[in-house]
Amino acid sequence: MRITAVETFVLKLPAEEAYLGRLTDGSAPSAGYQVREPWRSLYSDRYETLLVRLTAEDGTTGWGEALAPVAPEVPAAIVDLLLAPVLRGADARAPRPAWSRLRDLMRERGHLVGHQADALAAVDIALWDLAGKLTGRTVAELLGGAFRTRVPTYVSGLPKPDDEGRAELAREWAARGATSVKLHLGHGVAADLATVDAILAAAPELRIAVDAHWAYSIDEALRLAHGLAERGCWFLEAPLAPEDVTAHAELVARASIPVAVGEALRNRFEFAQWVTARALRIAQPDVARTGITEAMAIAEVCAAHHVPVAPHHSVGLGVAVAAGLHVSAAVEDLPAFEYQPTSVRVGERILARQLAVEPSAISLPTGPGLGVEVDAEAVAALAKES
Ligand code: MG
Repeated sequence: MRITAVETFVLKLPAEEAYLGRLTDGSAPSAGYQVREPWRSLYSDRYETLLVRLTAEDGTTGWGEALAPVAPEVPAAIVDLLLAPVLRGADARAPRPAWSRLRDLMRERGHLVGHQADALAAVDIALWDLAGKLTGRTVAELLGGAFRTRVPTYVSGLPKPDDEGRAELAREWAARGATSVKLHLGHGVAADLATVDAILAAAPELRIAVDAHWAYSIDEALRLAHGLAERGCWFLEAPLAPEDVTAHAELVARASIPVAVGEALRNRFEFAQWVTARALRIAQPDVARTGITEAMAIAEVCAAHHVPVAPHHSVGLGVAVAAGLHVSAAVEDLPAFEYQPTSVRVGERILARQLAVEPSAISLPTGPGLGVEVDAEAVAALAKES
C-alpha cells in the first residue's frame, strides 16, 4: 500500500479570545502579529496552524498537524516542496522508515530543527494516523500500548490581565474539578509571587506551576524558584534563555522546585544534551514540533536519565491534541499533558466529534489511528477563508 497524495492546509481561525487572552493593559491584541510584552515571542491574534493530509492507494487518509502559531505557510512550503516529492510512493504502513528518509533530506545542510522539524512533525503525525487507519489499530497501540486511557492534564493559563481576574478563574476551575493550573507569568519576581499568592488564596487546593517565558536572569530565576518552593508549587517552566543549558543546569542544582524545559527543542540529540547536563527535571516536548516518532525517542532518552515527560501543547488544533494524547498515553513516566482550554475548544472546529475533555483529564480517543475524525469539508472551507 503506497502513499499517493500529500496535501497541506493553512488555517488561521478567529476566536472570541486570543491565545493567552488580553494584553497586560487589558486591551485586545491588534490584528495580525505582535509581541506581547513582557514576552518576546511573536503571537497572532488568530489560531494558526498547518494541517497535512496523506492519502493511500485505497483512498484511506491520515491527518497530521504542525505547531505553527505564526506563518504556517512556511512549514507548508517545506512539506509541499521538499517532503512531498519523496513521500509520494512510500509505504503507507511504515511510518518510521518514511520519517527516517524525510529527516535525512536536509540534515547535512543543518536543517534538523526549526521550521524543517515542524513540517516533518506534521507529516510524521499523518504517517502514524494513516498506518493506524490501515491496520485498524490506535497510534498508542502501534507505539506498544497505552499506559493510561485517561491522560492527566493541568489547566494552562488563567488568561486574565490582573490577579483579581486570575483568582476568579482559578476559583471557577477548582469548582469544576481542576487539580492543577499553570500560570503564564514573567512580570517580575515580586509580581509573579503576588499572583501565585492570589491564586492560592482563591483556590488553595490547586497545584500551581509557573511558566516564566524565559524572562529572567539566573539570579532572578533563583529567587523566583525559592519563592515558589516556599509556596509548595509544582514546577517552574522556561525561566531562562532557551539556549542556555549551563544556566539551567545551575538553576536545577540550586533550586528546590523542578525546572521544566522542552517546547523549543525538537529532537533526541537536543534533549540528550539537556538531560545529560541535568539542565531540566521535567521534559516538555511538543508533539506537533517533534512528531510522534521523535517524541517517543525523546521519551526514551529522558527515561534513561529518569526524567519524566510532560508534553507541551499551546495553539495546535484537534489533530495536534490527539497526537499529544497518544504520546502521553504511550510514555511510561508522565506527570501530565498540557490542557489549553481555549485552543482545545477552537481545535474542535476541525473535528467531526468532540474530545472527552474534563478539567483534570482527557480521555484517549479510541478508534484507528489518532482516533479523531477530521471534518475534511470544514478544513477545506476554513483553509479557503484563511
Ligand atoms: Mg511554555
